[in-house]
Amino acid sequence: MEKLPIEIVSEICSHLGPPDLLHLVRSAKNFAQYLLRPSAAGVWKAAREECALDMPPIHPDLTEQKYAFLGFGSTCQNCGSITRSAVDWYLRRRWCSACQEIVIESEYCDLNRKWNQLIEDKRQRWKHDAIIHQNWVSVHEGRARRQYRSFLACPISEYNAFLLKAQELTDKEWKVYVAEQQEKKEALTMVFGQFHPVLIFGL
Ligand SMILES: [Zn+2]
Repeated sequence: MEKLPIEIVSEICSHLGPPDLLHLVRSAKNFAQYLLRPSAAGVWKAAREECALDMPPIHPDLTEQKYAFLGFGSTCQNCGSITRSAVDWYLRRRWCSACQEIVIESEYCDLNRKWNQLIEDKRQRWKHDAIIHQNWVSVHEGRARRQYRSFLACPISEYNAFLLKAQELTDKEWKVYVAEQQEKKEALTMVFGQFHPVLIFGL
């Protein structure tokens, strides 16, 4: 299999679904080299669309390959270990239980606390609608490992991007931006809970 010419590799891949492509990436070096390069994004996109699953929309910060690993893979995105944890589509992430808290604490912020700091912001009534990826998470609180704190988490990068937009855009641009964000959020919410790749493919 390692000696197959690239034309044959390309032809084989064009007939496979995302789980099979992931399997090839893990099992054969020349398939991995072909499938993981940016120019192969079209192969993954075609496979995803061919699958005809009601998948949440792809976010601009994910490549087609990363999206396939998220939806159909079985590894933690932080440490790479095999995990049974389901994908959190609202946050578009899958972590093992050991990594979840580490990542949440370092890369996510508490939206409700942030909103309270923005109380003077004239655009505050829009703020919830302008953040797409947010969900309730629980982390251990203090030294007592049995105590948990639940909060509405959002990636710090997404929150900072929101702040920048709120400062820079004109009122007209801001309305367009919020409408676009609302549309993306609705698309994500619409399929959340209906999409279970782990169950469908038994990965
Ligand atoms: Zn992990």
